[in-house]
Amino acid sequence: MNKDFNKKNLDFFPSASGANEELLSALSETSRLLCNWFSRSDKLEPLPKESNFKFQPPKERGEDFENLFDEINSLIYSSFNPSNPGSLAHLDPPPLTLSIIGDLIAGGLNNNLLANELSPSISILEKELCEWFALMLGFDNNSGGIAASGGTLNNLNALASARYSLGLQTNSNATFVISKDAHVSFKKCARILGLKSENIIIIDNDNLGRMDINKLELEIVNNINNGKKIFAVVATLGTTMRGSIDPISEIAKICRKFNLWLHIDGSIGGIYSFLKRKIKDIDSINESNSITINPQKVLGITKTSSLLIVKDIKNLQEAFQTGLPYLNSDENFINRGELGVQGSRPAEIIKLWLGIKFLGISGINQVLEASLEKRKLFEKKLDNEKFNTYSGPLHIISFVPKNINNDELSKWTSNAQKVLNMNRFMLSRPFYQNKYFLRAVFGNFNTKQYHIEKLSTILNKL
Ligand SMILES: *Cc1c(COP(=O)(O)O)cnc(C)c1O
Repeated sequence: MNKDFNKKNLDFFPSASGANEELLSALSETSRLLCNWFSRSDKLEPLPKESNFKFQPPKERGEDFENLFDEINSLIYSSFNPSNPGSLAHLDPPPLTLSIIGDLIAGGLNNNLLANELSPSISILEKELCEWFALMLGFDNNSGGIAASGGTLNNLNALASARYSLGLQTNSNATFVISKDAHVSFKKCARILGLKSENIIIIDNDNLGRMDINKLELEIVNNINNGKKIFAVVATLGTTMRGSIDPISEIAKICRKFNLWLHIDGSIGGIYSFLKRKIKDIDSINESNSITINPQKVLGITKTSSLLIVKDIKNLQEAFQTGLPYLNSDENFINRGELGVQGSRPAEIIKLWLGIKFLGISGINQVLEASLEKRKLFEKKLDNEKFNTYSGPLHIISFVPKNINNDELSKWTSNAQKVLNMNRFMLSRPFYQNKYFLRAVFGNFNTKQYHIEKLSTILNKL
């Protein structure tokens, strides 16, 4: 601890007359704690073996910040450690440096994206950054978007808007379509939207984990004939299990034919539209009505960071605008709280803005390329006589040993996870179609070639 750190004079709130020197030194001590953790991130397990963090309730008399340091430390050192190069289990990469700074600024400003008068510059930033994303994705000037605290909320924003745009918001036959590998958030969305399980049509996949396009058209026709009112088809751009991409362009054709809203769940894969090397179907994003993109999942923008980009911003306005009687309104600027389900909302856009400004288009490309290269290297190094692998064009791969029954698989995967953990590797163990898999997600920029070689050597010997 810095000796000059004056613990006593930290004010409850920063103010013009307040002790800014003390705040500065408290912030710098906090940064030091965090940076120490980063500097040890390769020595610390991806997931600490045990947590020594104990919750202690607030006392009658407030505690000095200095006295809280031990507790903060034990919280930090009992946390999941995404910056360890072996952290390859989920879509939770290490935090991008400038994004951490963005979070600090957002906290300091404490503005509210509910309304322009509570976040004048940041509301404009969010509007314009969403519009920039939309143009990058190939949409025209009617497009725009909104940020929300996660992909689940943006999928909900999209489905609610789709249903509203077709005037089906109170129709009990309102139905939407997903593929078998679509994200679980759609089940949640259906519950929130008051839709029964028979109002979700689930389309089978082909053997590459993509929506089967022939079945899609058949099911649409059958369901319309049975009185269902379909309002949206969801195409997944990057499935959770193996990063597959549904045939977006063909799905778009079918949606046009039946006048259905096409929503793309690009929570995982949407950001790959920034890749200079084109991946099949990603350049058809602009044929959709809406797309969810989660920069928190691949680029390392700190959580949460999710955008919903829509072809026509009016659709969000119509679905969500209620008027905010206690706030000023400006005909020329829609308050950001009227474009989605969230009301008060933090300035999460700052860390996305700073993060991608810092990376630049070439830095984004570099991070995305690296993720793909690592997945390919791993796939190459894994013994293909021993394992069946499942992956799409992105950075996710699931695998199981060949010739092993489902009971043995449960034990094998669980044992494999333990052995990997002892070697500071964390992979996930998804349960999918009645059996366990191991899954690796290569979104960790700190993972180097030799880590992947070590990982595959361990697995090949198991
Ligand atoms: C993570 C994920 C979501 C949900 O996003 P959250 O930010 O966790 O709410 C939706 N779809 C896909 C494909 C995802 O991977």
